[in-house]
Amino acid sequence: MNCADTEPEAASEHPDLASLNEQQAAAVAHDDGPLLIVAGAGTGKTATLAARVAHLVRQGADPQRLLLITFSRRAAQTLEHRAGLLLHDAFGRGGSRAAPGLPWAGTFHSVGARLLREHADALGLPRAFAIHDRADTEDLLGLVREQLGLAAPRQRFPLSGTCATLLSRMQNRCATLDEVLADAYPWCQRWRPELELLFAAYAAEKARQQVLDYDDLLLHWQRAMCDAALAPQLRARFDHVLVDEVQDTNPLQAAIVYGLCPDGRGLTVVGDDAQSIYAFRGADPRVVLDFAARFTPPATQLALERNYRSTQAILDAGNALVAAAPSLVPKRLWTAERGGARPRLVSVADEAAQASWVADEVLRRRETGLQLRRQAVLFRTSSHSLALELELARRGIPFVKYGGLRFVEAAHVRDLIALLRWTDNPRHRLAGFRTLQRVPGIGPAHARRLLDAMDRAADPWSALPDFVPPTAAADEWQGFGQTVDALRDETTPWPADLALAIDWLQPQLPRLYDDAATRASDLRQLQALASGLRSRREFLSDLALDPPQASGAEAGVPHLDDDYLILSTIHAAKGQEWSAVTVLNVVDGCMPSDMATGSAAGIDEERRLLYVAMTRARRHLDLMVPLKFHVTQQHRFGDRHLYAPVSRFITPDVAACCDAMAG
Ligand code: ATP
Ligand code: MG
Repeated sequence: MNCADTEPEAASEHPDLASLNEQQAAAVAHDDGPLLIVAGAGTGKTATLAARVAHLVRQGADPQRLLLITFSRRAAQTLEHRAGLLLHDAFGRGGSRAAPGLPWAGTFHSVGARLLREHADALGLPRAFAIHDRADTEDLLGLVREQLGLAAPRQRFPLSGTCATLLSRMQNRCATLDEVLADAYPWCQRWRPELELLFAAYAAEKARQQVLDYDDLLLHWQRAMCDAALAPQLRARFDHVLVDEVQDTNPLQAAIVYGLCPDGRGLTVVGDDAQSIYAFRGADPRVVLDFAARFTPPATQLALERNYRSTQAILDAGNALVAAAPSLVPKRLWTAERGGARPRLVSVADEAAQASWVADEVLRRRETGLQLRRQAVLFRTSSHSLALELELARRGIPFVKYGGLRFVEAAHVRDLIALLRWTDNPRHRLAGFRTLQRVPGIGPAHARRLLDAMDRAADPWSALPDFVPPTAAADEWQGFGQTVDALRDETTPWPADLALAIDWLQPQLPRLYDDAATRASDLRQLQALASGLRSRREFLSDLALDPPQASGAEAGVPHLDDDYLILSTIHAAKGQEWSAVTVLNVVDGCMPSDMATGSAAGIDEERRLLYVAMTRARRHLDLMVPLKFHVTQQHRFGDRHLYAPVSRFITPDVAACCDAMAG
């Protein structure tokens, strides 16, 4: 193994102002005319932006008057962290002055929230407004939908999650309801009048409860930028506006940036059109070029060509990948890191074999001195890490997951676990409470009544036959009772009991969740994987090993001294880097995703996703190719296993840059 694997911590590796290359130094020292840096992955765009901040402050700029923004939370943290390090170097080390902080660094949403609070009166907003995240938004929309009588099951009115996506899409693209319906939701067009009614009622309810949702934060900010009295005040707060990952900004965010810097003075934006992967949130790779052309005279455009992140071998594969797609801004990247191990294309039998190979490899690398947290496993969709999460839990390898819930936290998986737990142990009240409410027609009051009766009985199950369900639930109750009996029966072997539980749960999913097909597919895949375990108890206790404090989309970082593997969706890996990167499921149907194969633009975005994934790697890159791959077919065939061909993006040119091996 390469001795470079025992690298120092990343933070100390970032360049100081003195080690910038010529192109970076030119960008850092640029005057206050509008500046656009378009450059490939790993060329130091974020590093340059951070260095520019330090340079400006050293030249006397007031850190309170610098606005540093980007789209995603992790990218914002990276930027703020790096700028903070450089400021510390520039000020702290000399000891004469404490390093200044950067109070206005964050995401568009977080900065928007602060500005709105400060200007609430002028905007006619309540000062103490609460902020609703996406889940709250869906809940409130669900409530209003119900109040308006749109939730009757026979109507098949779009579920609240769909309504939330629709509304958000309209707002972030600055589009009308008709445009979004025609463009992406033709099947909802018949509900147009009701949707309009729903959105109006939702807005009224938000106003009544004094809440703003995520999109409101941007909408009101943009409104402020159009207000004759407020706009000049907001503009006057900042001397410089610096935007990272500009290819991810959508029209609404772009309008805010233009509003802050109408003539481009003090505006610096950096990005890479080849990494634009947020079209579904309204971003467009062309936004990068719009920035350049927007101003008179046009923005200065600089390129960075030297890649500091990856070895030449990894860069070659990434370059071969993007060569197949027309880029808006052609780039030539080079690195001084000659050679290095070639990326590997690893064929494995199926997803279970993939999980086991990856876990082995991660541990092997750790034995050679590469900490877990310098290794990342990336995937297209959160549910693709399911098998690996089970494998890691089984081996006790700690991990943190970004960009989606851990498998065991997903609601449908919790439903399944609750049913298995409760039938295993009827005194597990929480599991019972959850399970009972999954039976159509049973609400919290009935569930509680039955559980109380079970608590009182010496043999809890003896209370079950006496329970009288509401009339509407009578039929369903019978089927549920049979499942419970079968699951209680100790002679039902593993994993047949799991299959029974899934058979009962699956038909409930469409009533409970928007994306029932995907969730059903998760459960079936779990069933396929479960045969590798010995018993229900082992299954439940493996899953229970997950440290609860390491849960949540981003709050999951355990104690800093701990070492843990990184699992991340590719979207959430933006701007990050790791010594070793493994990309799961590099197969057609997954990359590109089934959903995206309809349009050329969709395919291009999928290719960019793989590009983002591959360019996160510094020294080791493994692309996994399971030969059998579980897919959700939403239309005709139901779920099935496909013999998946390697991704179409692995063209002969890309493959020629990799070593093929069997895992
Ligand atoms: P991405 O497109 O993935 O966001 P990026 O262009 O923002 O990448 P950075 O993350 O800023 O690139 O830099 C990539 C790596 O190169 C980082 O580890 C950074 O510290 C290092 N780096 C950048 N410039 C230099 C330099 N002049 N000297 C040494 N290391 C550098
Ligand atoms: Mg970056």
